[in-house]
Amino acid sequence: MKIPQGLLFLIFGFISGCNTTPNESDDNNSSDLLLKKTIVDLTHEFSDETIYWVTAKEFELDVVAKGQTENGFFYSANNFTTAEHGGTHIDAPIHFAENGQSVEEIPLENLVGSAIKINVSSKALNDPDYLVSTEDLTNWEKENGQIPDGSIVLLETGFSKFYPDKEKYLGTNERGADAIQYLHFPGLSPEAAKWLVQNRKIKAIGIDTPSIDYGQSTLFESHVVLLSENISAFENLTNLERLPSKGFSIIALPMKIKGGSGGPLRIIALINE
Ligand SMILES: [Zn+2]
Repeated sequence: MKIPQGLLFLIFGFISGCNTTPNESDDNNSSDLLLKKTIVDLTHEFSDETIYWVTAKEFELDVVAKGQTENGFFYSANNFTTAEHGGTHIDAPIHFAENGQSVEEIPLENLVGSAIKINVSSKALNDPDYLVSTEDLTNWEKENGQIPDGSIVLLETGFSKFYPDKEKYLGTNERGADAIQYLHFPGLSPEAAKWLVQNRKIKAIGIDTPSIDYGQSTLFESHVVLLSENISAFENLTNLERLPSKGFSIIALPMKIKGGSGGPLRIIALINE
């Protein structure tokens, strides 16, 4: 969709208001640039269909009030409960790194900025245990140039199209610790994660599957490698097929849970024209 001008000023005001190091001339430039963007929502809705890790508490919405009041006005309010890690969410570094940032400590500049997308869906859709390889990363660079310093990197496996069918998206409808062995979905190989932290300077990484490590992982090595470098992971993304390989920016703002190891995330892309 096209961004209405009023919304743009709201977004611009929000970003610049939150920036810890505001810069007058940069802000003016980004305001002009934002006027020419298309917004893509990369976020799944939270509902009773939302997919959670098989051992995590699922999303619940309890209606507190919905209807006309005795005083003549309409009133709606709900309570909700959720695990941190389910639906579209962020893994804060502390999720797998003892001294890593918790969710409220992640610098906003690591959650906002220019991004690239690496599409491996032609391979991953034929193999639910697919591991994004270092070669996938270097092949992207052959076509598009080196992954720029400070990039947010998104991995498109195509698995979002199975959401919220748990059998196809997770590999199982079962829940609980015994179901972990049946998880099958693509992820980033530990070798490629190491290559990224050793050879490139990325701010964050995202994927359209439940986890940055593939379903059959038992050691969660890609989590450990990335989160130990304070590189956060965005999981259960959607609409990545609507993004180009480069030439877009990400705004990823999680719920600011003090001490949180992650949390629900609203993430959008702004495509350059
Ligand atoms: Zn997570």
